[in-house]
Amino acid sequence: MIEALPSRGVPAERVLAELDELRGADLPTTGGRLFAYVFESAVPGLDELAAAAYARSAHVNGLDPTAFPSLLAMENALVAAAARVLGAGPGTAAPDVVGSVTSGGTESIILAVKAARDARPDITAPRLVAPASAHAAFAKAAHYLGLTLDTVPISPRTLVPAPEDIARAIRPETVLVVCSAPAYAHGVVDPVAPIAAAAAEAGVRCHVDACFGGWSLPWLRRLGVPVPEFDFAVPGVTSVSVDLHKYAYCPKGVSVLLHRDAQLRRPQYFGYADWPGYPLVNPVISSTRSGGPIAAALATLRHLGDAGYLALAERTRSAVRDICAAVRDVPGLRLLADPAATVVCFVADDPELDVFVLADELAGRGWHVQPQHRYGEIPPSLHLSVTAGAAAGAADFGPALRDAVGATRAAGPVRLPAELLALAGSLRPEDLTPQLMAGLVAGLGLDPAGPGIDTNRMALVNTLLGAAPAALRERLLVEFLSLLQTPSW
Ligand SMILES: *Cc1c(COP(=O)(O)O)cnc(C)c1O
Repeated sequence: MIEALPSRGVPAERVLAELDELRGADLPTTGGRLFAYVFESAVPGLDELAAAAYARSAHVNGLDPTAFPSLLAMENALVAAAARVLGAGPGTAAPDVVGSVTSGGTESIILAVKAARDARPDITAPRLVAPASAHAAFAKAAHYLGLTLDTVPISPRTLVPAPEDIARAIRPETVLVVCSAPAYAHGVVDPVAPIAAAAAEAGVRCHVDACFGGWSLPWLRRLGVPVPEFDFAVPGVTSVSVDLHKYAYCPKGVSVLLHRDAQLRRPQYFGYADWPGYPLVNPVISSTRSGGPIAAALATLRHLGDAGYLALAERTRSAVRDICAAVRDVPGLRLLADPAATVVCFVADDPELDVFVLADELAGRGWHVQPQHRYGEIPPSLHLSVTAGAAAGAADFGPALRDAVGATRAAGPVRLPAELLALAGSLRPEDLTPQLMAGLVAGLGLDPAGPGIDTNRMALVNTLLGAAPAALRERLLVEFLSLLQTPSW
C-alpha cells in the first residue's frame, strides 16, 4: 500500500523507486509478449523521445489554443497527417476534411455520435445502427447521449454484417450508421463501401471506426496485403476515427476524429458564455487537457515518418505470420478469421481444450493473450493484437503455445461447481447484493484487498462470467471493480 500524502515529502529518487516497485506488479509493456492493452514498437529510443516531448508540454493546457499556440499547431499537424493517411486532404475526394485531437478512441466515438445526434435536433428519439461487432464504445456513447442502439447481427462465418441488414435497420430516426476497419474482437474489416452507400442513400451519416486499423491498414496495403477501401475514398463516409496510441505507437491519450467537412464537425463543439467566468468553447469532452500526449504524438510521428511506419508494418506483418503459423500447427485450434489486419484470434474446436485454461497456461509462460467470451454461435476465443514489438520473439510463440496446449489438455476444462453454474444461469442482475458478491469473490479465491489479482489464474472467473448472461456479466464486473476501487486508508 502506498500513502499519497505523507506528512513530510519523500525525496524524488525514493518516489521514483517506489513507482518502479509498483510498476513491477504490472503486465510487461515491453518484450513483445503482451497482446492487448499496449502497442509496442520496439524502436530503440522512441519511447524516450516521446517521454521527453511529453514532459515539455505536460503543463500546457489545451483549454485555450490562443494562449498556447504550440498545441494548436501540433494538433493541426496531427489532423493533417491523419487525414492524408486516411484518403483525405488536398487533391483527394475529401479536400475539405477537418478534425480534432481527442484523448482516445472512446472519446472520438462519443464525439462522432454527439455530432450526428446534434445535427438532427428535429429527431427526438435518435437511433444508432451498428454491427454487433462494433466496439463497446458505441454502446457507451448511446448510453451517455441518450440514443437507442440498433445492433445488426454478424455472420458467425465471415464475422461481418450483411450490408442489406444494415440498410434494413436504418429508420427515420437513425442519425448515424457505424462500421469498423477492422472490428477489435476478430480484426475483420466490415464491407464499408456498401454500408456507407446505404447510409448515404438514406441521408444518414456514416462513421468508420478505424481506431484500431487506421494507422496500420494503409501501410499494410502498400506491402501488398489486400485491404478494401475503408476511408474517405469511400463515398458516403462522413467521419473516421483513428487512435494514435495504437498502431502509431504514441503514448496513451491520443486519437484523431476526422469529418469530411467543417459543417459535419460543427455540432461536435460545445460553447457556453452564459456564466460569470470565461466564455467556454470546447471541441472535445475535456476542458483542461494536457499538452503532453499531443506533443508526444507529434514527436513520435515526426521521428518515425512514413518510412518508419512502413518498416513497422512489415515487422508486424511478419509477427502476424509467425503467430498464425504457430496456431495452425496445433491440432484442435482454429483461426477464427484470416488476419488481413493485425489481429490473431483463435478458438478451440476440441471440447477437451479450454481456451480460458490455455490463456492461463500461456500467461504462466510469460505470454499474455486476451480471452473473449462466447457470442452467439461464436465460441470463446483468444485475441492477440499483434504489434511490431512482437516480431523479434514471435518465433518463440510456437513452442510456448504447444507446451501450453499440452498443459491445458492435461489440466482438462474448467468445471464449475453445479451450484455456481446454476447461480450464474438464474441470478437476476438486480439481485446481486454486495454480500452475495463478497461471497462469490471469496469463493473464487480472489482477494480484492490483496496485493493484486493473480492474472495467471483467471480461467475459473472467465468460465463463471461466460456462464452468466451478458446483463449479469456486466453487473458482476461492475460490482467487482467497485470492490477493487476502495480507498487505501
Ligand atoms: C481501441 C478501440 C476503441 C476504443 O478506443 P480507446 O482508445 O480504448 O478508448 C474503439 N474502437 C476500436 C475498433 C478499437 O480498437
